Amino acid sequence: MTVELGMPRRRAPDGPGADPRATDRPEGLPGLVDRYGRVATDMRLSLTDKCNLRCSYCMPADGLPWLQKDALLSAEEIARVVGIGVRLLGVRELRLTGGEPLVRADLADIIAALRAAHPHLPIALTTNAVGLDKRAAELRSAGLTRINISLDTLHPETFAQLTRRPFFDRVLAGIEAADAAGLGPIKINSVLMRGINDADAPDLLAWCLERGYELRFIEQMPLDADHGWTRQGMVTAAEVRGLLGSRFQLSPDPRAREGAPAERFEVRPLHYGGQGGGLLGTVGIIASVTEPFCADCKRTRITAEGKVMSCLFSHEEVDLRGLLRSGASDEQVAQRWQEAMWLKPKAHGMDHTGLGADGFVQPDRSMSAIGG
Ligand code: SAM
Ligand code: SF4
Repeated sequence: MTVELGMPRRRAPDGPGADPRATDRPEGLPGLVDRYGRVATDMRLSLTDKCNLRCSYCMPADGLPWLQKDALLSAEEIARVVGIGVRLLGVRELRLTGGEPLVRADLADIIAALRAAHPHLPIALTTNAVGLDKRAAELRSAGLTRINISLDTLHPETFAQLTRRPFFDRVLAGIEAADAAGLGPIKINSVLMRGINDADAPDLLAWCLERGYELRFIEQMPLDADHGWTRQGMVTAAEVRGLLGSRFQLSPDPRAREGAPAERFEVRPLHYGGQGGGLLGTVGIIASVTEPFCADCKRTRITAEGKVMSCLFSHEEVDLRGLLRSGASDEQVAQRWQEAMWLKPKAHGMDHTGLGADGFVQPDRSMSAIGG
């Protein structure tokens, strides 16, 4: 959805810390609109920067100091920020992420409080599922709507190589528990790494189709703490389609994409020749690097320490925690959030030939510290 911006009227920057570049934001413009007419309604809230895995495309093998506990938004602050988003700024859906959100002991309490305040808000969770077997039912009764679980391979050794932790069985137990708790249809997120798990793609798809899980492949983005990403090294969406095409017939899903990041495909047996029918399920491919969808982006991100990031690749962060802790009104917090989103970049600037071209510079934060 886009909005007509009309003729801007200038207004003075509001209060200490306000960004003077946001003064061309038309006064009274509702919601989280940016200069290009996009409206953010999909909120991604990171609950922690901590994680119990160390996926090579996200975190370093060692190190990466955690935030202090009091640097994180508290459960009460989270409830307030989400309330401001929903009541004042047009947020329509919420995804809780991290780091690993299950690391937060108060996760079910956070969800229960959000559910009580917003009975109809879709609340999703992105998790690596380590420990989910013991908590899925509790999260479901707290009011969680749905869940995305990350799983890149069906081989325990490859899992241990990619995540640097031997927790494959725990993840499988978590997935099964989420399904049994009624959190389906389960979505599975996979990142393919060349020469490590790319050959596993068709097996992963077959496994998900058999269980009714929706698999989505995400192109590896330059958000690893090690800064080891290369354009040549990453497995592209076109390659993923080729890998899956060796075992399945893919055809574009006729349902409207509606700004969703994943391009969906219907999956049929490789030699299926009939008209219609034969459908095994669908698969999604999120081509953030090679086929970016910035023009349709509806996301606003809040980091675990309460900073607005208008884009995953943003180098600018706008602090809300300071306002929350200094007696600011909900309207003042909302205005600061609106100013941050007004300045959302048009596109992330990665191009098809190489990192660094087209002015792209990898952000300092890793994916775990932003909230994917
Ligand atoms: N720890 C949880 C998990 O892994 O599901 C939630 C946070 S994680 C940062 C969210 C998603 O980001 C995961 O599906 C993960 O695979 C994905 N991700 C992490 N680093 C990435 C990268 N460099 N490129 C693409 N996706 C990435
Ligand atoms: Fe942890 Fe998720 Fe990053 Fe893996 S992708 S290291 S599970 S935050």
